Amino acid sequence: MNLKNKKILQIVASILVLGAVVVVANLQKERNTPTVSTEFMMDTVIMQKLYGKRAPQAIAEIEDRLRQYEKTCSMYIENSEIDLINQNAGKKFVEVSDDTLNMIVRAKEFSVQSNGLFDITIAPLTTLWGITSESPKVPSEQQISQARTLVNYQDILIQNHQVKLKHQGQAIDLGAVAKGAVCNIIREVAQKYNITKGYVSVGGNLIVLKDTPTGSNYRFGIRDPKGDESEYIATVLLNGKTMATSGAYERWFEQDGKRYHHIINPHTGYPAETDLLSVSVISEDGMLADCLSTTFFIEGKQAALAKMQEEEYQLIVVDLQGNVFYSPSLINNLQPNEDKPYQFIAYKESSEKQ
Ligand code: ADP
Ligand code: MG
Repeated sequence: MNLKNKKILQIVASILVLGAVVVVANLQKERNTPTVSTEFMMDTVIMQKLYGKRAPQAIAEIEDRLRQYEKTCSMYIENSEIDLINQNAGKKFVEVSDDTLNMIVRAKEFSVQSNGLFDITIAPLTTLWGITSESPKVPSEQQISQARTLVNYQDILIQNHQVKLKHQGQAIDLGAVAKGAVCNIIREVAQKYNITKGYVSVGGNLIVLKDTPTGSNYRFGIRDPKGDESEYIATVLLNGKTMATSGAYERWFEQDGKRYHHIINPHTGYPAETDLLSVSVISEDGMLADCLSTTFFIEGKQAALAKMQEEEYQLIVVDLQGNVFYSPSLINNLQPNEDKPYQFIAYKESSEKQ
């Protein structure tokens, strides 16, 4: 670690833990005091830190909008639009709002691209495993194969503003989409209040406002998938960007000495057997980042390496051997934490195949 970084890290009074990310350093002197808020909603912790006179109003409005979003899109809230689609599976079409419709249409596109490995009709399997419940458990083989037959994004039927699932028992779970999708709402509200500085963490999905003119104020840490919550393997600047991370360490349970995590391979019905420890996707588009972090986590290393040079997003991928592959466009941005035993590789197509 160079001297400057060391100093920055020493100056930091407290390290803020935001789920998958850690705020490592404030690189500039505070020009004014931020407004900070921490709330529990959408089954996760929402941490906001915004600057500007109208930050308190913006924070309040973001909270309102996210609560509204949850009421509309959570499969666990009775009579939410998603719950109504699920209740009426195999029966009838349900009218949905523009935002819900757009989200479902986009999620379906990601399913097509991933050959169904990413699939928001995963709900029969996530419910069976009780992944987000108080008492998760390993289901029987028979239960799994039965639930698996219900998972199929092609059965999401869309007609004008209406959505229907083809078969009874099918259900939508937006768990892999929601935290990223709300980043766009957050950006919109911040713009409305002319707030250009600050960030919001939605359970580890991060949106950083586009700061002017010198760039973002903070370096954000990519969580060490093998370490505890405050440990990080590298830091990045995320000016105007969002970042989503998927990893087996985020939610899991243990049964008979074996660990089971919360990202399910729809083809097997079991937690994805992956050769990756974590996948972080950086993009202006929060929903894209969220969908792709989940997708690449399931698809694995080769699939992620093939997408290291995309324009729309950048990747930071940690494999089981402790290699960290990252998009070459991050070279001047990503700073490895040299206290960690990871090996960093800016990956180009021409790089030696792993
Ligand atoms: P996190 O919610 O921990 O940030 P993800 O964004 O990867 O992680 O989303 C995981 C959630 O997505 C699960 O809790 C579940 O609700 C849902 N899910 C699990 N497997 C899939 C899948 N194959 N396709 C789409 N959604 C999934
Ligand atoms: Mg995701």
